[in-house]
Amino acid sequence: MSWTDELAREISGAVSMDDAARDAVATDFGRIVTRKPQAVVRPASTVDVQRVVKFAARNSLHISTRGGGHSQTGQSLSDQIVLDTTSLDQVKSVTMDSVTVQAGIKWRALVEHLVPQSLSPPVLTNNLDVTVGGTLSMAGLGVASWKFGTQADNCLELEVVTGAGDVVRCSEAENRDLFDAARCGVGQFGVITEAVLKVRRHAPRFRSFYLLYDDLARLLDDLKSLMEDKRFDYLESWCIPCPQGFKKVAGQRQPFAQWFFPLHATVETQEGESPEPLSKLGGLKFYKLVHTEDGEIGEFFTRLDNLFALWKRGGFWDYAHPWMECVLPWQTTPMYISQVLANLPPQALVGGHILLWPALGTASRAPLFMRPQADFLMGFGILPAVAPRFVNEVLPRLNMASQAAAMMGGKRYLSGWINFDHAAWKAHYGEQWATVIAAKRKFDPQGILNPGFVIYEIIA
Ligand SMILES: Cc1cc2nc3c(=O)[nH]c(=O)nc-3n(C[C@H](O)[C@H](O)[C@H](O)COP(=O)(O)OP(=O)(O)OC[C@H]3O[C@@H](n4cnc5c(N)ncnc54)[C@H](O)[C@@H]3O)c2cc1C
Repeated sequence: MSWTDELAREISGAVSMDDAARDAVATDFGRIVTRKPQAVVRPASTVDVQRVVKFAARNSLHISTRGGGHSQTGQSLSDQIVLDTTSLDQVKSVTMDSVTVQAGIKWRALVEHLVPQSLSPPVLTNNLDVTVGGTLSMAGLGVASWKFGTQADNCLELEVVTGAGDVVRCSEAENRDLFDAARCGVGQFGVITEAVLKVRRHAPRFRSFYLLYDDLARLLDDLKSLMEDKRFDYLESWCIPCPQGFKKVAGQRQPFAQWFFPLHATVETQEGESPEPLSKLGGLKFYKLVHTEDGEIGEFFTRLDNLFALWKRGGFWDYAHPWMECVLPWQTTPMYISQVLANLPPQALVGGHILLWPALGTASRAPLFMRPQADFLMGFGILPAVAPRFVNEVLPRLNMASQAAAMMGGKRYLSGWINFDHAAWKAHYGEQWATVIAAKRKFDPQGILNPGFVIYEIIA
């Protein structure tokens, strides 16, 4: 009997060995790395996950845990076993302060469950079709992160099946080392099977002011003031090119752009309440108030669905996505962004965008969400859709932008296109490197979970 048949006999969930099932999880949203597994496991329970982990350890096999597969460097791919957690998708209980879910649930299903009760998680990602386990393993950034931190910061408790095959509940009060390793741990230390997440009561409606800036320095000043005076609930910003034709750079004609910066500043509102621009926008230095949008709060949570639908209709969803996101200290933000934008061909952004996530330096506490130590931080993401024939041309440029971010004190967000060698991983984790190594030894002693992404040893 093959090991795949043996595995299928051991668990009560589904084990698929057919081509269609294996092809479906052979790449990710990045579409750069391909690895076809020999088996795809859809566990029926935590006990199933434990059985798969123990089976893999016994047979010297590797497992990669997969949520929605939206990461971009093969973080959720394996040539042996893919553990597809989307079969663990139940909401187990809700109170006024928290919700307990299985980790394979998508945030969209959770939001749909909670919104009728006027409850929502404090932080939601732009894309709601990612899983709770998938974003807790990265951090989970959203337009409320500037004050509430990451989704990992709003996680109260986890159930984890460690790489050693133990089922462990952990929180700040209990098994803290596992709690701190599993959150933002990129699936390296265990499989998150259940999470207890904070929820909050939201207002029923929202009002968004669509502001446009023609100057980065003014935008940054205003973002800082808005984070200090807390007059809005959600802050969302981009860099948008207005192409200006071609100019000579080192003897060659290159496309270039004048950059503009939309800022959507949103406040939750009660029924019948409509905060006036004059009262909310006083003192801000935008170039133009372009639009005011009102709606039900549920519409705000899904506001990017229309954009993603357009990307899908345009075929861009099927392109490669070597996304390069980083978190910068505020001091180097203007110089870094100006330099990157000056060198970015504007046409490279069709089917993608450049995002800005401002944040208070104190908003996040999760130890493995690597970020600079500063009073204010800026998340910056170049998120392109790249046609296959341009991939080899684009990757070195994005790697350069990544290295420049590190040189300016920035840290990468680990769901994107990451091309780190051992030294770069060590530098990324900095003072946490020893903790990461110790956690790997303790919770995944045989190194069976998600090998190949984080490089622990110098490879000769
Ligand atoms: C269109 C789009 C928009 C996005 N917007 C945002 C955004 O606004 N904010 C943001 O923070 N990110 C955003 N992302 C990135 C996305 O949130 C991350 O890639 C996230 O990890 C994806 O979740 P997933 O369920 O697809 O996880 P996967 O890609 O399947 O997995 C990601 C990592 O988590 C591990 N993992 C998954 N589930 C578990 C588990 N249960 N236990 C342990 N490890 C696990 C995997 O092994 C892998 O290492 C966006 C991505 C896309 C494609």
